Amino acid sequence: MVLTSQQKFDIMAWCTERSLKVCPVCSANALTIADDVYTVLVYHPVTGVEKSAPAFPQVVIVCTNCAHILNFSATVMGITQPLAPRP
Ligand SMILES: [Zn+2]
Repeated sequence: MVLTSQQKFDIMAWCTERSLKVCPVCSANALTIADDVYTVLVYHPVTGVEKSAPAFPQVVIVCTNCAHILNFSATVMGITQPLAPRP
């Protein structure tokens, strides 16, 4: 899912409200919001990926100075809707 300009603005506002203005690793003012919402898959001990599990949508913010990556729940940020509970 590609983020719109409005969603990126909302993410920046969300971060500012929580005093996230610089990279927590190198303190550079070089944080950039990735263009897409990414997911984390549920690990399965045999197959590696639990195919029937829901994905976990994340907003990714990258420090262009030290390459540190910050991941945030897109749902908690209000960017994506909560998924229905598993049956
Ligand atoms: Zn950094």
